[in-house]
Amino acid sequence: MGERYDECLSFLITASGLPLQKMDAALYFDHNSTTPVDEAVVQAMFPWFHQQFGNAASNHMFGWQAAEAVNIAREQLAALISAEKEEIIFTSGATESINLALRGVVDAYAGKGNHIITCATEHKAVLDTVEHLSKRGTRVTLLPVNANGEMDLKELEQTISPDTILIALMYANNETGIIHPVEQIASIAKQHRVLFFCDATQAVGKIPVHVLNDDIDLMAFSSHKMYGPKGVGALYVRRKNPRVKLTEQITGGGHERGLRSGTINVPGIVGFGKAATICMEQMQTETTRLEALRNQLESSLISGTGATVNGTTTHRLAHVSNLQFPVQNGSSLLTRLIHKIAVSSGSACSSASTQPSHVLKAMGMPDGAVKSSIRFSLGRTTTPEAVEQAIQHTVTVVEQLLAEEAGTV
Ligand SMILES: *Cc1c(COP(=O)(O)O)cnc(C)c1O
Repeated sequence: MGERYDECLSFLITASGLPLQKMDAALYFDHNSTTPVDEAVVQAMFPWFHQQFGNAASNHMFGWQAAEAVNIAREQLAALISAEKEEIIFTSGATESINLALRGVVDAYAGKGNHIITCATEHKAVLDTVEHLSKRGTRVTLLPVNANGEMDLKELEQTISPDTILIALMYANNETGIIHPVEQIASIAKQHRVLFFCDATQAVGKIPVHVLNDDIDLMAFSSHKMYGPKGVGALYVRRKNPRVKLTEQITGGGHERGLRSGTINVPGIVGFGKAATICMEQMQTETTRLEALRNQLESSLISGTGATVNGTTTHRLAHVSNLQFPVQNGSSLLTRLIHKIAVSSGSACSSASTQPSHVLKAMGMPDGAVKSSIRFSLGRTTTPEAVEQAIQHTVTVVEQLLAEEAGTV
């Protein structure tokens, strides 16, 4: 595949007429923002743009072929999370899935209650949506976290009241990699007959996520965080014990069991399905490989710069390291680092608006410490050589900054 693929790619890049710069994907340490589409995924998607361009809802040969491809992808995704294929609703990404889950449950369960419990360290897609809902009368509880980024499950349980309809808590945090005790959360939700929605965007494809074992009622995840294309996501909606009710938020032709109208993205969904299969195959070996590389990066940066890890290190994704560096000027740290390596200071959205991370703030860190924190997220493109380069570059940058700040240069 490799050589022909490269040839084909350079042809397409030339043909696109775009001024593209060659970049070294090994120096990309921002896999929690997005991941490169796997070569095999690109190949699987290709026919569905051009030769097999049918609308999956059309009743003729072109439509049937597209519908069959979507059906296979739905099975591949269901297999990844141990769901039934009928329980997968395709959307444009995790943000839309989160909106459908939260707004859809609030609308469908209005007769039961209007209280949602979530947490201060959730992704903005959750926090902004519950804020919006709260302006329209939904009562929202934002649980705090401790300095390790962990919440108190007793507090969660005490917050539940007769009007609580939903607990919305993520699987793994995008900024720190901290993994929530999902099974315990689910069991609390079950005991109190409250639905449990989980934003598993950073966990699916990286660690085993099984909606039945984990007892999750609704779950959002996204293709572009697991080496699939951008613009495709899914919402898992449980069909039995209990059968979750959901009010559709996008109305139209009644696609996706009436829960999400609009012509479905056939190439994107085919790619998402293929990406799921590859994640399943590589999960164990890739986790082991990345954990070793992450640990090497982390321990070298700790000993080389005096950095400290933000959040617990016991329940954490293997490919993420969120480090606080002992410098005053956090923004120049980031500016100098991104000269050579692609890292971020938190979530993609917060760095775009240069807002200090709400996740680290919720963990009680002062503004200065938040601003001098950097997230390294490793992935399939990460090589041992690149980790060495990242260590060297980061140590040099931090030493320079410390010398400047001490006034010795
Ligand atoms: C990336 C991300 C999202 C948003 O996903 P999109 O598919 O980009 O809309 C939501 N939650 C978490 C935890 C994420 O990491």
